Amino acid sequence: MSDCIFCKIVERQLPTKIVYEDDIAIAFEDVNPQAPVHTLVIPKRHIPTLLDIPEGDGMLMGHLFEICRKIASDKGIAERGFRIVTNCNPESGQTVYHIHLHMLGGRQMHWPPG
Ligand code: AMP
Repeated sequence: MSDCIFCKIVERQLPTKIVYEDDIAIAFEDVNPQAPVHTLVIPKRHIPTLLDIPEGDGMLMGHLFEICRKIASDKGIAERGFRIVTNCNPESGQTVYHIHLHMLGGRQMHWPPG
């Protein structure tokens, strides 16, 4: 989608630090990190929110989780622990309407989240 910043990252129209890529997904460093590790994992396909994932396409999210697991291992935080967050719609705080998992780690997390 032409006005989506994450589609622009997929198409290399915006600079970012890409840490993983395959045919389906891409992962890159968040521009405003909230933890020592803060990587975003997104599908290459433009899907605005979790509610827009087509029925029968649930494997897509499983693939994104597998990428998070790989990133946690690569960054050496798998055993310490990490958090995966995804926001959906305004009250969650979603600001970019192209689904993404936040992979956060490298510090103690707290609960409840803000
Ligand atoms: P959310 O608020 O859950 O929609 O998360 C959007 C995330 O995208 C935020 O954590 C932003 O810091 C991040 N973000 C926005 N623009 C960029 C960009 N150009 N490169 C990397 N991360 C970005």
